[in-house]
Amino acid sequence: RLILGVESSCDETGVALVALPPEGAPRLVSHALHSQIDMHQAYGGVVPELASRDHIRRVVPLTRQVLQEAQCAMADVDVVAYTRGPGLAGALLVGAGVACALATSLGRPMLGVHHLEGHLLSPFLSVDPPEFPFVALLVSGGHTQLMRVDGVGRYELLGETVDDAAGEAFDKSAKLMGLPYPGGPHLSRLAEQGRADAFALPRPMLHSGNLDFSFAGLKTAVRTHLVRLGWLDQPAALADPAHQAALADLAASTQAAIVEVLVKKSLAALKATGLRRVVVAGGVGANRLLREQLNQACVRRGIRVHYPELHLCTDNGAMIALAAAMRLQSGQADLSREPVFDVRPRWDLSAV
Ligand code: ATP
Ligand code: MG
Ligand code: FE
Repeated sequence: RLILGVESSCDETGVALVALPPEGAPRLVSHALHSQIDMHQAYGGVVPELASRDHIRRVVPLTRQVLQEAQCAMADVDVVAYTRGPGLAGALLVGAGVACALATSLGRPMLGVHHLEGHLLSPFLSVDPPEFPFVALLVSGGHTQLMRVDGVGRYELLGETVDDAAGEAFDKSAKLMGLPYPGGPHLSRLAEQGRADAFALPRPMLHSGNLDFSFAGLKTAVRTHLVRLGWLDQPAALADPAHQAALADLAASTQAAIVEVLVKKSLAALKATGLRRVVVAGGVGANRLLREQLNQACVRRGIRVHYPELHLCTDNGAMIALAAAMRLQSGQADLSREPVFDVRPRWDLSAV
């Protein structure tokens, strides 16, 4: 069976085809992505109305592109999957609308997918796919969660952030440092030239005794350092070549604080569950220091770590088609329903 997946929850339009063979694992056939980052950069963040309009412009050409790459026709598609939530309502409606229209015109079933389930299962498309059960560290722009995953659809929340997400901590700190949106990759690149012990920053909730996170205080601490330096909201000072070494130090210190908390809490979750396998998913999973430190800590303990392919860490259509395929494969997809136009901007994964 051939599954078309459409992702449009935020600022990436992603479309992909995944083949589900009668036996064996789902296989990515083709995928295409358009990121709106350049468009939103001028505003320092995602503008929801602009995002929706751009999804409308991109989604059909991207769909044509993946069909052409796969040398398939629209009629070859057996199931149309789309991101049902969580995300920006207007942006989600574009993907849902397109999926509903395609499914109706083809006479095929449609399947709404949870965006975080897509992130969570994306490592199954990598060259080193995981096996159930595992601990999942989900670190994206909007979420930071630790989960116990016993199988498709069997997700138990172990802990999550009480305020900002890890990606948000990267992005907000980067913005304070005058870096472009989204700041995560920019901050981590700048950090390569800095010293991680140069600035004292908190490790929020490291000893909280549970598996929750908090990152809002970290951003405030970064802000305080910039105030002391006299550089807060001073674009000229932030861009001054003479200040770049200190900014690199601040970036390195920020990244080290975020990564240390993520690694230690993941180890605590592994210990609490007794599981020997951890899966990292979401955009922050692309972070090099996080991968290095988590790998190191896990190798020492004989724990296996799995990641999505680098280009599938952030939002994409492949993870949506894959999640639909794995739902179908495990008999957890109700395809009998008539196509319905349905999104859930707020949606808890453990409620799926
Ligand atoms: P959610 O999935 O929670 O709805 P989202 O879809 O916006 O949020 P993703 O696309 O998974 O999130 O990830 C985007 C986030 O990942 C951004 O915050 C971005 O800064 C961060 N990110 C991407 N690459 C890196 C990196 N190399 N280092 C740190 N952060 C990164
Ligand atoms: Mg994004
Ligand atoms: Fe995402």
